[in-house]
Amino acid sequence: MAASKLRALGAVMAVTGMSYTAVTLVSSPVSAGDRGATAALESERRRTADPAAVVPSREVQAAALMGASAANPLDVLVIGGGATGCGVALDAVSRGLRVGLVEREDFSSGTSSRSTKLIHGGVRYLEKAVFNLDYGQLKLVFHALKERKQVIENAPHLCHALPCMTPCFDWFETLYYWVGLKMYDLVAGRRMLHLSRYYSADESIELFPTLARKGHNRSLKGTVVYYDGQMNDSRLNVGLACTAALLGASVFNHAEVISLIKDENNERIIGAHIRDNLSRKEFDTYAKVVVNAAGPFCDSIRRMANKEAPNMISPSSGVHIVLPDYYSPEGMGLIVPKTKDGRVVFMLPWLGRTVAGTTDSSTVITMYPEPHEDEIRFILDAISDYLNVQVRRTDVLSAWSGIRPLAMDPSAKNTESLSRDHVVHEDHPGLITITGGKWTTYRRYGYGIQSDMRLGTPKKAFTLLS
Ligand SMILES: Cc1cc2nc3c(=O)[nH]c(=O)nc-3n(C[C@H](O)[C@H](O)[C@H](O)COP(=O)(O)OP(=O)(O)OC[C@H]3O[C@@H](n4cnc5c(N)ncnc54)[C@H](O)[C@@H]3O)c2cc1C
Repeated sequence: MAASKLRALGAVMAVTGMSYTAVTLVSSPVSAGDRGATAALESERRRTADPAAVVPSREVQAAALMGASAANPLDVLVIGGGATGCGVALDAVSRGLRVGLVEREDFSSGTSSRSTKLIHGGVRYLEKAVFNLDYGQLKLVFHALKERKQVIENAPHLCHALPCMTPCFDWFETLYYWVGLKMYDLVAGRRMLHLSRYYSADESIELFPTLARKGHNRSLKGTVVYYDGQMNDSRLNVGLACTAALLGASVFNHAEVISLIKDENNERIIGAHIRDNLSRKEFDTYAKVVVNAAGPFCDSIRRMANKEAPNMISPSSGVHIVLPDYYSPEGMGLIVPKTKDGRVVFMLPWLGRTVAGTTDSSTVITMYPEPHEDEIRFILDAISDYLNVQVRRTDVLSAWSGIRPLAMDPSAKNTESLSRDHVVHEDHPGLITITGGKWTTYRRYGYGIQSDMRLGTPKKAFTLLS
């Protein structure tokens, strides 16, 4: 058993070209469809797949940042080493830009390691697209499906397709989810992971033995199983940082931006004052464009440029709990699209245990948000309605909370609405804030970076492809 596991690991290492010191993506972070430069793409592929490649040391990363001066600035300095920041850095360096990235704690220590770990194709956007006849929502689905496939292909050692079971308790519900998920397959087309399908109540219980056949005066009619992606979010994030470093970006963790540097003549942001939180040494670094990817903390960075900047972020916390393995079978998740109080709850196999969540409550912004007892109880209560095992508080092995950086676009006409999509905003010359959105679509943030950033036209450079 142990030997076969080791062989499997060896195979993964061979396929991915990872060395033990450099955990990188398998293939280039950008797909050939993203741009035409296939020769450059090929050279990147070779560099990331080189088994002898090693991420340069912390000293080398720091020296490159310290070496950037006002006369010889970086092209881009990214603040924040979560999915957004590492995605932007990787995209920018792969397009030949000179890139630096600083992260105050460790890579993925923020929201990016506290997600549900799903690579969504956006099935809920599809429901909105159909019912509201909203083409914008449909475009989000197309985009999420494309990204889902690309992210899994780029890091197959950290991502995979996961079947998710939707229990149905009346025939209308069964028909509704079956038709909806067939439409999802249809829209996915070539990007589909596997076909969704209906299972009878007996078949469903065979596949998911802890699923309740009866409860609350209703009985299970069957389930519809569809596929989404599952990822190891924190390792994927570290993979993005390491791949960016292998391609030449200077990525520096435990380094905090404590103020921004302005050009005295025109007030443009031209760099940042940074503190190395390990050595406590401080230094300046300069860049043509500073990208604020500080997630829930992006307003504090914006206020370093303009004390009067209004808040963009409306933080919302989401809790997950870890339960013993017997709660869910290996390789099958359970999704309840509407609990009795109308929320979505997932129960997914995760590293030999079961992860369940999540909640959605307004919160204050802190680096270490704590899961509250009522949030843990809410999740236990929600899943207990669908399970035939006794759901006990003492079964909770661990719990965590993450903060969704839900953003309001300050330049949008309707400032009432919070975006579940990402927002790109240049509220001070030289400082571009990118926040909101989903892990699944992290690659989108960097898409619009064009080489004309070198010419100092960052706003245009960050115009996103639609
Ligand atoms: C409960 C929950 C479940 C979710 N589930 C999913 C899911 O299943 N699928 C999905 O696609 N998306 C999911 N999301 C959304 C996804 O996790 C986020 O959109 C994404 O992780 C945001 O990444 P980020 O890089 O913008 O923020 P973060 O990961 O928070 O990164 C920001 C970083 O900036 C750093 N920073 C802050 N200030 C400074 C400073 N002054 N100097 C240097 N660094 C600084 C922080 O330390 C932090 O590491 C979920 C979110 C939550 C909360």
